[in-house]
Amino acid sequence: MPTETVDTLIVGGGLSGIYAAYLLAQRDESFVVLEARERLGGRILSPEHQNFFSDLGPSWYWPEIHPKMAGLIQEQGLKGYRQFENGLGRFQRPNGEVQTVSGYATEPLSWRLQGGMMALITKLCEKIPENAIKLNHPVCHIEKNGAEAHVSVGELEKEPWARFRAKKIILALPPRLTASTILFTPDLPDNLTQAMLKIGTWMAGHAKFTALYEEPFWRQAKLSGQAFSQRGPMGELHDASNNEQGPYGLTGFVGIPAAQRHNQQLLIDAILSQLELIYGKPAAKPTILFYKDWAREQFTATKLDQPPMYEHPLYYPPARQTSFWDGIIHFAGTETATKNGGYLEGALGTAERAVG
Ligand SMILES: Cc1cc2nc3c(=O)[nH]c(=O)nc-3n(C[C@H](O)[C@H](O)[C@H](O)COP(=O)(O)OP(=O)(O)OC[C@H]3O[C@@H](n4cnc5c(N)ncnc54)[C@H](O)[C@@H]3O)c2cc1C
Repeated sequence: MPTETVDTLIVGGGLSGIYAAYLLAQRDESFVVLEARERLGGRILSPEHQNFFSDLGPSWYWPEIHPKMAGLIQEQGLKGYRQFENGLGRFQRPNGEVQTVSGYATEPLSWRLQGGMMALITKLCEKIPENAIKLNHPVCHIEKNGAEAHVSVGELEKEPWARFRAKKIILALPPRLTASTILFTPDLPDNLTQAMLKIGTWMAGHAKFTALYEEPFWRQAKLSGQAFSQRGPMGELHDASNNEQGPYGLTGFVGIPAAQRHNQQLLIDAILSQLELIYGKPAAKPTILFYKDWAREQFTATKLDQPPMYEHPLYYPPARQTSFWDGIIHFAGTETATKNGGYLEGALGTAERAVG
Protein backbone atom coordinates (compact mmCIF):
# COMPACT_ATOMS: atom_id res chain seq x y z
CA MET A 1 0.00 0.00 0.00
CA PRO A 2 1.49 3.39 -0.98
CA THR A 3 2.30 5.86 1.81
CA GLU A 4 1.22 9.45 1.19
CA THR A 5 3.75 12.06 2.38
CA VAL A 6 2.68 15.52 3.58
CA ASP A 7 4.31 18.29 5.62
CA THR A 8 1.56 18.36 8.26
CA LEU A 9 -1.07 15.81 9.13
CA ILE A 10 -4.09 16.87 11.18
CA VAL A 11 -5.96 14.17 13.12
CA GLY A 12 -9.61 15.25 13.53
CA GLY A 13 -11.96 17.46 11.54
CA GLY A 14 -13.72 19.28 14.38
CA LEU A 15 -13.36 23.05 14.80
CA SER A 16 -9.73 22.88 15.99
CA GLY A 17 -8.67 20.60 13.10
CA ILE A 18 -10.55 22.51 10.42
CA TYR A 19 -9.31 25.88 11.68
CA ALA A 20 -5.73 24.51 11.70
CA ALA A 21 -6.27 23.36 8.09
CA TYR A 22 -7.70 26.76 7.16
CA LEU A 23 -4.60 28.46 8.59
CA LEU A 24 -2.26 26.03 6.81
CA ALA A 25 -4.11 26.54 3.51
CA GLN A 26 -2.85 30.14 3.58
CA ARG A 27 0.74 28.85 3.51
CA ASP A 28 2.70 27.03 0.86
CA GLU A 29 2.79 23.73 2.79
CA SER A 30 1.12 20.40 2.10
CA PHE A 31 -1.30 19.01 4.65
CA VAL A 32 -4.09 16.53 5.08
CA VAL A 33 -6.95 16.25 7.60
CA LEU A 34 -7.85 12.70 8.63
CA GLU A 35 -11.38 12.57 10.04
CA ALA A 36 -12.75 9.35 11.52
CA ARG A 37 -16.44 10.13 10.95
CA GLU A 38 -18.28 10.34 7.62
CA ARG A 39 -18.82 14.05 8.34
CA LEU A 40 -16.84 17.07 9.54
CA GLY A 41 -17.56 19.19 12.62
CA GLY A 42 -16.95 16.73 15.47
CA ARG A 43 -19.04 18.02 18.37
CA ILE A 44 -20.52 20.63 16.04
CA LEU A 45 -23.64 19.15 14.47
CA SER A 46 -26.51 21.17 12.95
CA PRO A 47 -29.10 19.04 11.11
CA GLU A 48 -31.31 20.96 8.66
CA HIS A 49 -35.11 21.19 8.52
CA GLN A 50 -36.90 23.68 6.24
CA ASN A 51 -33.65 25.58 5.82
CA PHE A 52 -33.25 25.96 9.59
CA PHE A 53 -30.20 24.40 11.25
CA SER A 54 -30.65 23.02 14.79
CA ASP A 55 -27.52 22.87 16.91
CA LEU A 56 -27.26 19.53 18.69
CA GLY A 57 -23.74 20.35 19.85
CA PRO A 58 -22.57 23.90 20.60
CA SER A 59 -25.06 26.66 19.85
CA TRP A 60 -23.64 29.68 21.68
CA TYR A 61 -20.70 31.96 21.55
CA TRP A 62 -20.16 34.98 23.77
CA PRO A 63 -18.62 37.87 21.79
CA GLU A 64 -17.84 39.85 24.97
CA ILE A 65 -15.46 37.18 26.28
CA HIS A 66 -14.65 35.08 23.19
CA PRO A 67 -12.91 37.47 20.78
CA LYS A 68 -11.47 34.81 18.47
CA MET A 69 -14.93 33.38 17.75
CA ALA A 70 -16.47 36.82 17.31
CA GLY A 71 -13.60 37.92 15.02
CA LEU A 72 -13.62 34.76 12.89
CA ILE A 73 -17.40 34.88 12.42
CA GLN A 74 -17.16 38.48 11.29
CA GLU A 75 -14.12 37.84 9.08
CA GLN A 76 -15.94 34.97 7.35
CA GLY A 77 -18.97 37.16 6.64
CA LEU A 78 -21.24 35.03 8.84
CA LYS A 79 -24.04 36.50 10.92
CA GLY A 80 -24.75 35.95 14.58
CA TYR A 81 -27.95 36.77 16.45
CA ARG A 82 -28.82 37.17 20.12
CA GLN A 83 -30.25 34.19 21.96
CA PHE A 84 -33.99 34.88 22.35
CA GLU A 85 -34.59 35.54 26.06
CA ASN A 86 -37.52 37.98 26.15
CA GLY A 87 -40.32 37.07 28.50
CA LEU A 88 -40.94 34.96 31.54
CA GLY A 89 -39.26 31.71 32.50
CA ARG A 90 -40.67 28.41 33.76
CA PHE A 91 -39.53 26.35 36.71
CA GLN A 92 -40.43 22.71 37.31
CA ARG A 93 -40.28 21.24 40.81
CA PRO A 94 -39.31 17.59 41.56
CA ASN A 95 -43.05 16.68 41.80
CA GLY A 96 -43.62 17.97 38.25
CA GLU A 97 -45.44 21.13 39.29
CA VAL A 98 -44.58 24.05 37.02
CA GLN A 99 -44.52 27.71 37.93
CA THR A 100 -43.83 30.87 35.97
CA VAL A 101 -40.81 32.79 37.15
CA SER A 102 -39.18 35.99 36.03
CA GLY A 103 -36.89 35.58 33.03
CA TYR A 104 -33.38 36.93 32.76
CA ALA A 105 -30.77 37.56 30.11
CA THR A 106 -27.65 35.43 30.38
CA GLU A 107 -24.53 37.25 31.45
CA PRO A 108 -22.45 37.65 29.28
CA LEU A 109 -24.94 37.72 26.41
CA SER A 110 -25.23 34.49 24.41
CA TRP A 111 -25.24 34.59 20.62
CA ARG A 112 -26.19 31.96 18.04
CA LEU A 113 -24.96 31.62 14.49
CA GLN A 114 -27.20 32.03 11.44
CA GLY A 115 -27.14 28.66 9.63
CA GLY A 116 -26.18 26.86 12.83
CA MET A 117 -22.66 26.47 14.21
CA MET A 118 -21.92 24.15 11.27
CA ALA A 119 -21.97 27.25 9.04
CA LEU A 120 -18.56 28.14 10.46
CA ILE A 121 -17.07 24.76 9.51
CA THR A 122 -18.65 24.92 6.03
CA LYS A 123 -17.30 28.43 5.47
CA LEU A 124 -13.75 27.55 6.59
CA CYS A 125 -13.82 24.51 4.30
CA GLU A 126 -14.33 26.77 1.27
CA LYS A 127 -10.67 27.78 1.67
CA ILE A 128 -9.37 24.21 2.18
CA PRO A 129 -8.59 22.11 -0.93
CA GLU A 130 -11.20 19.34 -1.11
CA ASN A 131 -8.63 16.58 -1.58
CA ALA A 132 -6.88 17.62 1.67
CA ILE A 133 -9.81 16.33 3.73
CA LYS A 134 -10.25 12.59 4.11
CA LEU A 135 -13.45 11.41 5.78
CA ASN A 136 -13.89 7.89 7.18
CA HIS A 137 -10.19 7.89 8.10
CA PRO A 138 -9.85 6.88 11.78
CA VAL A 139 -6.21 7.08 12.86
CA CYS A 140 -5.27 4.02 14.93
CA HIS A 141 -1.46 4.08 15.20
CA ILE A 142 1.26 6.74 15.14
CA GLU A 143 4.87 5.64 14.98
CA LYS A 144 7.96 7.82 15.36
CA ASN A 145 10.49 7.27 12.62
CA GLY A 146 13.52 9.56 12.89
CA ALA A 147 12.41 13.16 12.39
CA GLU A 148 8.96 12.22 11.12
CA ALA A 149 6.00 10.05 12.06
CA HIS A 150 4.13 7.30 10.24
CA VAL A 151 0.37 7.27 10.67
CA SER A 152 -1.88 4.26 10.11
CA VAL A 153 -5.58 4.53 9.38
CA GLY A 154 -8.07 1.77 10.14
CA GLU A 155 -8.85 -0.48 13.06
CA LEU A 156 -6.36 -1.66 15.65
CA GLU A 157 -5.26 -5.29 15.22
CA LYS A 158 -6.18 -5.20 11.50
CA GLU A 159 -4.20 -4.29 8.39
CA PRO A 160 -4.33 -0.48 8.00
CA TRP A 161 -6.32 0.71 5.01
CA ALA A 162 -4.20 3.84 4.46
CA ARG A 163 -0.78 5.09 5.53
CA PHE A 164 0.69 8.59 5.76
CA ARG A 165 3.98 10.13 6.82
CA ALA A 166 4.55 13.67 7.98
CA LYS A 167 7.13 15.88 9.69
CA LYS A 168 4.42 17.32 11.89
CA ILE A 169 1.23 15.85 13.32
CA ILE A 170 -1.51 17.93 14.95
CA LEU A 171 -3.74 15.94 17.32
CA ALA A 172 -7.01 17.90 16.99
CA LEU A 173 -9.17 15.67 19.16
CA PRO A 174 -9.84 15.25 22.89
CA PRO A 175 -6.67 13.98 24.65
CA ARG A 176 -8.66 11.37 26.60
CA LEU A 177 -9.93 9.94 23.30
CA THR A 178 -6.40 9.99 21.85
CA ALA A 179 -4.95 8.08 24.80
CA SER A 180 -7.84 5.58 24.74
CA THR A 181 -8.00 4.83 21.00
CA ILE A 182 -4.66 5.58 19.28
CA LEU A 183 -1.50 3.50 19.82
CA PHE A 184 1.86 5.26 19.90
CA THR A 185 5.21 3.64 19.15
CA PRO A 186 7.45 4.06 21.06
CA ASP A 187 5.21 4.16 24.15
CA LEU A 188 4.36 7.59 25.47
CA PRO A 189 5.70 8.32 28.96
CA ASP A 190 3.27 7.11 31.65
CA ASN A 191 2.80 10.58 33.14
CA LEU A 192 1.72 11.96 29.75
CA THR A 193 -0.71 9.10 29.06
CA GLN A 194 -2.19 9.42 32.56
CA ALA A 195 -2.58 13.17 32.18
CA MET A 196 -4.33 12.68 28.81
CA LEU A 197 -6.73 10.11 30.30
CA LYS A 198 -7.56 12.38 33.22
CA ILE A 199 -8.67 15.32 31.05
CA GLY A 200 -12.46 15.01 30.79
CA THR A 201 -13.95 15.73 27.36
CA TRP A 202 -16.30 18.68 27.75
CA MET A 203 -20.00 17.78 27.24
CA ALA A 204 -19.09 14.26 26.04
CA GLY A 205 -21.38 12.69 28.64
CA HIS A 206 -24.37 14.86 27.75
CA ALA A 207 -27.37 14.54 25.44
CA LYS A 208 -29.26 17.35 23.72
CA PHE A 209 -32.75 17.59 22.29
CA THR A 210 -34.38 20.07 19.89
CA ALA A 211 -38.06 20.20 18.91
CA LEU A 212 -39.23 22.39 16.02
CA TYR A 213 -42.72 23.91 15.57
CA GLU A 214 -44.55 26.03 13.00
CA GLU A 215 -45.51 28.60 15.66
CA PRO A 216 -43.59 30.02 18.64
CA PHE A 217 -46.57 29.42 20.99
CA TRP A 218 -44.45 30.01 24.09
CA ARG A 219 -43.43 33.46 22.83
CA GLN A 220 -47.10 34.20 22.11
CA ALA A 221 -47.76 33.35 25.81
CA LYS A 222 -45.01 35.83 26.82
CA LEU A 223 -42.62 33.03 27.78
CA SER A 224 -38.96 33.20 26.79
CA GLY A 225 -38.49 29.46 26.27
CA GLN A 226 -36.05 29.40 29.17
CA ALA A 227 -36.92 26.76 31.76
CA PHE A 228 -35.22 24.85 34.54
CA SER A 229 -36.42 21.54 35.88
CA GLN A 230 -35.65 19.61 39.05
CA ARG A 231 -37.67 16.68 37.71
CA GLY A 232 -36.25 16.03 34.21
CA PRO A 233 -35.47 14.36 31.97
CA MET A 234 -34.41 17.76 30.63
CA GLY A 235 -32.75 19.91 33.25
CA GLU A 236 -32.48 23.11 31.25
CA LEU A 237 -34.42 24.44 28.26
CA HIS A 238 -34.02 27.38 25.89
CA ASP A 239 -35.58 28.91 22.82
CA ALA A 240 -33.75 27.50 19.80
CA SER A 241 -35.23 29.65 17.04
CA ASN A 242 -33.79 32.01 14.55
CA ASN A 243 -35.12 35.46 15.45
CA GLU A 244 -36.32 36.34 11.96
CA GLN A 245 -38.42 33.41 10.73
CA GLY A 246 -39.68 29.90 11.49
CA PRO A 247 -39.53 27.08 12.12
CA TYR A 248 -39.34 27.86 15.83
CA GLY A 249 -37.62 25.63 18.34
CA LEU A 250 -37.15 24.60 21.92
CA THR A 251 -33.93 22.91 22.93
CA GLY A 252 -32.84 21.21 26.13
CA PHE A 253 -30.02 19.37 27.83
CA VAL A 254 -31.00 15.96 29.17
CA GLY A 255 -30.14 16.00 32.85
CA ILE A 256 -30.03 12.27 33.56
CA PRO A 257 -26.77 10.23 33.34
CA ALA A 258 -25.85 8.27 30.20
CA ALA A 259 -26.40 4.94 31.98
CA GLN A 260 -30.10 5.80 32.28
CA ARG A 261 -30.49 6.86 28.65
CA HIS A 262 -30.47 3.39 27.06
CA ASN A 263 -34.02 3.41 25.76
CA GLN A 264 -34.13 6.32 23.35
CA GLN A 265 -37.84 6.06 22.52
CA LEU A 266 -38.85 6.02 26.21
CA LEU A 267 -36.64 9.01 26.80
CA ILE A 268 -38.08 10.97 23.87
CA ASP A 269 -41.64 10.19 25.07
CA ALA A 270 -40.69 11.45 28.56
CA ILE A 271 -39.19 14.62 27.06
CA LEU A 272 -42.37 15.32 25.07
CA SER A 273 -44.53 14.87 28.21
CA GLN A 274 -42.22 17.22 30.07
CA LEU A 275 -42.48 19.81 27.26
CA GLU A 276 -46.29 19.55 27.45
CA LEU A 277 -46.23 20.09 31.24
CA ILE A 278 -44.02 23.16 30.87
CA TYR A 279 -45.43 24.76 27.70
CA GLY A 280 -48.86 23.20 27.15
CA LYS A 281 -50.38 20.79 24.61
CA PRO A 282 -48.80 22.13 21.36
CA ALA A 283 -45.35 21.43 22.80
CA ALA A 284 -45.98 17.67 22.68
CA LYS A 285 -46.47 17.75 18.90
CA PRO A 286 -43.35 19.14 17.22
CA THR A 287 -43.13 18.95 13.42
CA ILE A 288 -39.73 17.34 13.86
CA LEU A 289 -37.42 16.51 16.73
CA PHE A 290 -33.69 15.89 16.89
CA TYR A 291 -31.88 14.07 19.66
CA LYS A 292 -28.16 13.40 20.06
CA ASP A 293 -26.60 11.37 22.84
CA TRP A 294 -22.93 12.35 22.74
CA ALA A 295 -21.98 9.71 25.32
CA ARG A 296 -22.75 7.06 22.69
CA GLU A 297 -20.47 8.59 20.05
CA GLN A 298 -17.29 6.52 19.74
CA PHE A 299 -15.35 9.43 18.20
CA THR A 300 -16.24 11.79 21.08
CA ALA A 301 -16.77 9.87 24.31
CA THR A 302 -14.96 7.06 26.10
CA LYS A 303 -16.11 4.96 29.07
CA LEU A 304 -14.55 7.53 31.38
CA ASP A 305 -16.85 10.22 29.94
CA GLN A 306 -20.12 8.41 30.70
CA PRO A 307 -20.84 10.19 33.99
CA PRO A 308 -21.57 13.73 32.74
CA MET A 309 -19.43 16.56 34.08
CA TYR A 310 -21.51 19.34 35.57
CA GLU A 311 -18.62 21.60 36.59
CA HIS A 312 -16.50 23.21 33.89
CA PRO A 313 -12.90 22.02 34.57
CA LEU A 314 -9.86 24.23 34.36
CA TYR A 315 -8.17 22.94 31.22
CA TYR A 316 -4.48 23.00 30.32
CA PRO A 317 -2.25 20.94 27.98
CA PRO A 318 -1.64 17.35 29.19
CA ALA A 319 1.28 17.29 31.68
CA ARG A 320 1.67 20.98 30.66
CA GLN A 321 3.14 19.79 27.33
CA THR A 322 1.91 21.30 24.07
CA SER A 323 4.04 18.90 21.99
CA PHE A 324 6.13 15.72 22.26
CA TRP A 325 8.60 13.61 20.25
CA ASP A 326 10.87 16.64 19.68
CA GLY A 327 8.10 18.75 18.22
CA ILE A 328 6.79 16.15 15.73
CA ILE A 329 3.44 15.85 17.54
CA HIS A 330 1.44 18.88 18.68
CA PHE A 331 -1.68 18.96 20.81
CA ALA A 332 -4.71 20.89 19.57
CA GLY A 333 -8.34 20.36 20.56
CA THR A 334 -10.20 22.52 23.04
CA GLU A 335 -9.34 20.34 26.04
CA THR A 336 -5.65 21.22 25.59
CA ALA A 337 -6.24 24.98 25.70
CA THR A 338 -4.75 27.17 28.40
CA LYS A 339 -7.58 29.69 27.94
CA ASN A 340 -11.29 29.02 27.35
CA GLY A 341 -10.72 25.25 27.31
CA GLY A 342 -13.85 23.22 26.57
CA TYR A 343 -15.35 26.02 24.47
CA LEU A 344 -15.22 26.74 20.74
CA GLU A 345 -12.97 29.68 21.60
CA GLY A 346 -10.45 27.31 23.18
CA ALA A 347 -10.48 25.10 20.07
CA LEU A 348 -9.50 28.11 17.90
CA GLY A 349 -6.66 29.05 20.26
CA THR A 350 -5.16 25.55 20.18
CA ALA A 351 -5.28 25.46 16.38
CA GLU A 352 -3.30 28.72 16.21
CA ARG A 353 -0.80 27.40 18.76
CA ALA A 354 -0.33 24.06 16.96
CA VAL A 355 0.07 25.59 13.50
CA GLY A 356 2.61 28.05 14.97
C1 LIG B 1 -24.03 19.22 23.59
C2 LIG B 1 -22.86 20.16 23.52
C3 LIG B 1 -23.07 21.51 23.73
C4 LIG B 1 -22.00 22.40 23.68
N1 LIG B 1 -22.25 23.74 23.80
C5 LIG B 1 -21.25 24.63 23.60
C6 LIG B 1 -21.54 26.01 23.45
O1 LIG B 1 -22.72 26.43 23.49
N2 LIG B 1 -20.49 26.87 23.26
C7 LIG B 1 -19.19 26.44 23.19
O2 LIG B 1 -18.29 27.27 23.04
N3 LIG B 1 -18.90 25.10 23.26
C8 LIG B 1 -19.89 24.21 23.45
N4 LIG B 1 -19.62 22.85 23.42
C9 LIG B 1 -18.20 22.43 23.29
C10 LIG B 1 -17.73 22.51 21.81
O3 LIG B 1 -18.53 21.66 21.06
C11 LIG B 1 -16.24 22.11 21.72
O4 LIG B 1 -15.47 23.03 22.46
C12 LIG B 1 -15.67 22.08 20.29
O5 LIG B 1 -16.60 21.67 19.34
C13 LIG B 1 -14.44 21.17 20.30
O6 LIG B 1 -13.81 21.13 19.05
P1 LIG B 1 -12.52 20.22 18.89
O7 LIG B 1 -12.04 20.35 17.49
O8 LIG B 1 -11.55 20.53 19.98
O9 LIG B 1 -13.01 18.72 19.19
P2 LIG B 1 -14.11 17.82 18.44
O10 LIG B 1 -15.22 18.63 17.94
O11 LIG B 1 -14.43 16.71 19.39
O12 LIG B 1 -13.33 17.26 17.17
C14 LIG B 1 -12.51 16.10 17.22
C15 LIG B 1 -12.61 15.41 15.87
O13 LIG B 1 -11.71 14.31 15.85
C16 LIG B 1 -12.36 13.20 15.21
N5 LIG B 1 -11.71 11.97 15.65
C17 LIG B 1 -11.87 11.31 16.83
N6 LIG B 1 -11.06 10.22 16.86
C18 LIG B 1 -10.37 10.22 15.68
C19 LIG B 1 -9.38 9.35 15.13
N7 LIG B 1 -8.91 8.28 15.77
N8 LIG B 1 -8.91 9.63 13.87
C20 LIG B 1 -9.37 10.73 13.17
N9 LIG B 1 -10.32 11.57 13.68
C21 LIG B 1 -10.79 11.33 14.91
C22 LIG B 1 -13.80 13.34 15.66
O14 LIG B 1 -14.68 12.63 14.82
C23 LIG B 1 -14.01 14.85 15.59
O15 LIG B 1 -14.44 15.28 14.31
C24 LIG B 1 -20.67 21.93 23.45
C25 LIG B 1 -20.47 20.57 23.22
C26 LIG B 1 -21.55 19.69 23.24
C27 LIG B 1 -21.33 18.22 22.95
